[in-house]
Amino acid sequence: QGDPRLKAISDAIRVIPHFPKTGIMFQDITTLLLDPVAFKHVVDIFVDRYEHMNISLVAGVEARGFIFGPPIALAIGAKFIPLRKPGKLPGKVISEEYELEYGRDRLEMSVEAVKSDERALVIDDLVATGGTLSASISLLERAGAEVVECACVVGLPKFKGQCKLKGKPLYVLVEPS
Ligand code: AMP
Repeated sequence: QGDPRLKAISDAIRVIPHFPKTGIMFQDITTLLLDPVAFKHVVDIFVDRYEHMNISLVAGVEARGFIFGPPIALAIGAKFIPLRKPGKLPGKVISEEYELEYGRDRLEMSVEAVKSDERALVIDDLVATGGTLSASISLLERAGAEVVECACVVGLPKFKGQCKLKGKPLYVLVEPS
């Protein structure tokens, strides 16, 4: 609202109708990555918001949370933890299943990555139903972390009312028009 950086971010995201299947308006953030000014705006806005919130852990959701999470984690002095698709992480993992529009999926996290009393931020590129973020919150809480907030570059408005994040706040930068 009023921040010209948000328009630059929104303008840099390409919308692809009917990808990967009919009826989906795919929000393609790879074009945002081609624009270093807009990409930096995203990181700057999140860093401004989170640098004084005592966040010790940034968790990024595979795959596009791996793009936005690490620069934010480095800038605020927090560790980065990847939340991955099944079977990718070695060592001791915990896992959470969640609903997709069609079917189910699962996210895994290394339990040893989380220490006691951590304050966590969850990052993904986009929130639709909130299923992915809810599974992420569950993983972090099961490992003993406190989830402070979830943050996404894009929030789909049509799902807003349905968005359930286990009571945790959600911060999004732009909504597709
Ligand atoms: P949800 O769990 O329903 O909130 O879906 C969010 C996850 O699905 C994120 O990891 C997004 O990357 C992906 N996603 C869902 N819908 C879209 C869309 N319209 N455009 C791009 N990514 C999407």
